[in-house]
Amino acid sequence: MPGETIKSMVPITFLYRNRVGQALETYIDGLKDKKILGIKCPACDKVYVPPRTVCGCCHKKLDTYVEVEQQGTLENFTVAHVTIEGGEIKDAEPYVIGMIKLKGADSLLSAVVKGVAVDKVKTGIRVKAVWKEETQGSYSDLAYFEPA
Ligand SMILES: [Zn+2]
Repeated sequence: MPGETIKSMVPITFLYRNRVGQALETYIDGLKDKKILGIKCPACDKVYVPPRTVCGCCHKKLDTYVEVEQQGTLENFTVAHVTIEGGEIKDAEPYVIGMIKLKGADSLLSAVVKGVAVDKVKTGIRVKAVWKEETQGSYSDLAYFEPA
């Protein structure tokens, strides 16, 4: 019939592969080798982990990668009660997400902290990196941190 609109719904899925940029690609390459890489500012000597391309302090371009130690201090944390799996938010047993200052770094790295009860965790504790047994070149190669 003229003027009649026929509607149909067709679900379409788009899969994307985005580049994370040179600094994070280098960081992830380091994780594959179980190394934590930062980037050092040539002007103010600040070391950022994960690496970034411009110093947040003096705005210099950054390109000098340095390995930092795998131990550090829990500077801050939150207790999470949900997790994201496959893009969906799901309830989870409470767990700690920490902001960790690694030895040799001037910035904080966000990571899950295990091995300490959520009601016992406190800032200032020493933590160390725990790696996946087999790394594959992804953020999750650095599995979590635990008390050192
Ligand atoms: Zn700087």
